[in-house]
Amino acid sequence: MCGIIGYVGDKKIVPLLIEGLKKLEYRGYDSAGICVLDGGMLKSIKDKGRISELEKEEPLKWISGNAGIAHTRWATHGKPDEINAHPHFDCKKEIAIVHNGIIENYQSLKKLLIKEGHMISSETDSEIIAHLIEKFYEGDLEEAVTRVLKLLEGTYGLAVLSNKEEKIIVAKKGSPLVIGVGDGEMFIASDISPIIEHTNKIIYLSDGEVGIITKDRYIIKNIDGNGVDKKVHEVKWSIDQIEKGNFKHFMLKEIFEQPEVIRNTFRGRIKDGKIKLSLNIDFKKIKRIILTACGTSWHSAVIGKYLIEEYAKIPCEVDYASEFRYRNPMVNTDDLLIAISQSGETADTIAALKEAKGKGAKTLGIVNVVGSTISREVDSGIYLHAGPETGVASTKAFTSQIAALTLFSLYLGQESGMDIDNEILKEMEIIPEKIEKVLENSERIRNIASRFKDKNNFLYFGRGINFPVALEGALKLKEISYIHAEGYPAAEMKHGPIALIDKNMPIVFLATKSSISSKILSNIEEVYARDGKIISVVNEKTPEVEKFSEELIIVPETIEELSPIINVISLQLLAYHIADLKGLDVDKPRNLAKSVTVE
Ligand code: GLU
Repeated sequence: MCGIIGYVGDKKIVPLLIEGLKKLEYRGYDSAGICVLDGGMLKSIKDKGRISELEKEEPLKWISGNAGIAHTRWATHGKPDEINAHPHFDCKKEIAIVHNGIIENYQSLKKLLIKEGHMISSETDSEIIAHLIEKFYEGDLEEAVTRVLKLLEGTYGLAVLSNKEEKIIVAKKGSPLVIGVGDGEMFIASDISPIIEHTNKIIYLSDGEVGIITKDRYIIKNIDGNGVDKKVHEVKWSIDQIEKGNFKHFMLKEIFEQPEVIRNTFRGRIKDGKIKLSLNIDFKKIKRIILTACGTSWHSAVIGKYLIEEYAKIPCEVDYASEFRYRNPMVNTDDLLIAISQSGETADTIAALKEAKGKGAKTLGIVNVVGSTISREVDSGIYLHAGPETGVASTKAFTSQIAALTLFSLYLGQESGMDIDNEILKEMEIIPEKIEKVLENSERIRNIASRFKDKNNFLYFGRGINFPVALEGALKLKEISYIHAEGYPAAEMKHGPIALIDKNMPIVFLATKSSISSKILSNIEEVYARDGKIISVVNEKTPEVEKFSEELIIVPETIEELSPIINVISLQLLAYHIADLKGLDVDKPRNLAKSVTVE
């Protein structure tokens, strides 16, 4: 995810683009850049860090012109630094591009370009687009861009500027792009937030469309060059509504982003029945895997243990990073330590990683933020591609961590000679649609939330791979609603927590189909016999669960290994709605911080 803005017109272009980037900063903020066509030359300034850093650059004062593009980056390929920041250029600095998305086949295109003598200066997947346009440019920018688009696999929201023409060419596939229609001026952007103060006339580009934008007109075509008629929408939204995409809170927005996020985590990593990960670790030497993390990431680590032992048959341990680092743990050179952290900056996880590294273990990071400390410290890593997570209570990072761990465990199995079952690959492909079905239940879950919001305690029970989901459900509720909640493996109930059960205790059961469904049913009966108020997450309404449950949350069935991704979303929604109905500050719960960079 990142933010793009472009302008063609007579207003002071640099302040307009900078102000626009600030509105898009919620989409990404690791580096930024701007490029303006100034007196027949493309003048550009880029900087690491936030827009406020870019804004301080003295040379910006001397740049002016009538066409320009700008970008605030959320790195996916290449660390966040000045060189990798957008815009990117061709060799002669006559073509500039800004890109949002991932070009999956950039490695092969890059090789080809280098062979042909192109000097590629960044580590990004995006820069090759500028060089490809240069390669195909024969005096017609639009023609060159469309030829390039046909070669690109993956996703893009793209804006292109050349030093020859006062126009911007835009294209969209999989990443958002809108055009703002002004009077003698035109805007392009990733969303309407930077445009709306200038014009409320908006065109939403669709996938496969290309726009040719000059200050007096726009032309929209499909990729084959045929004209497309587009509706101009009159938008009446506030800036706050726009940034949160009309959701009341970032947390809710991020819950609803999960279908797309999971697609992004899997994108380009499953091909022809195989898992494609480029990890430079010799896994044949690994005898044991230690997963370490904190908080929500620790729950995904527990799920990772189930997945790795199932698919890769390598013994696995899970450790709280804060405990691991101070325990003088037994680690040796046959071990692989996996550090999981959304931000890649969690202090305890970094310390655990260093401890293991010092003892000779190989290390792998699963992080969201590109270029973060963990991503730099590890031997190899898998990025989540979940986009910035703003809500303090992690949601989309959690499900994408499970998705990444699924990829990793299948990859390990594959590398040791296992044939990957087609069924799981098929399910991975359709899981985003199944998540959408869970999200359709949001209002129904809000009704359940309104019934239970005034309770002081909750229990969450699950078994097998859904035991960590029970932990995560309880954690979400604690974090944002301040209701005391505990997650347990359902069978453990008899060894203590059952004493807590009475008619005032809500108990959430993860009872979707699994190899041990019948055992869960017995646990439900045990709770029912003690008057507990049962909320069951199930795949269908069966007479047994209906009889014992106060409420049912019905979610689509999937294979057991992927069920945590589906099941946890209903628990995220339950926690969200309870906290919201209690009138709490969901995005900034008391005492918490987004990334815990102190021990
Ligand atoms: N893949 C591009 C990069 O890493 C664009 C990133 C994005 O869309 O967030 O620079």
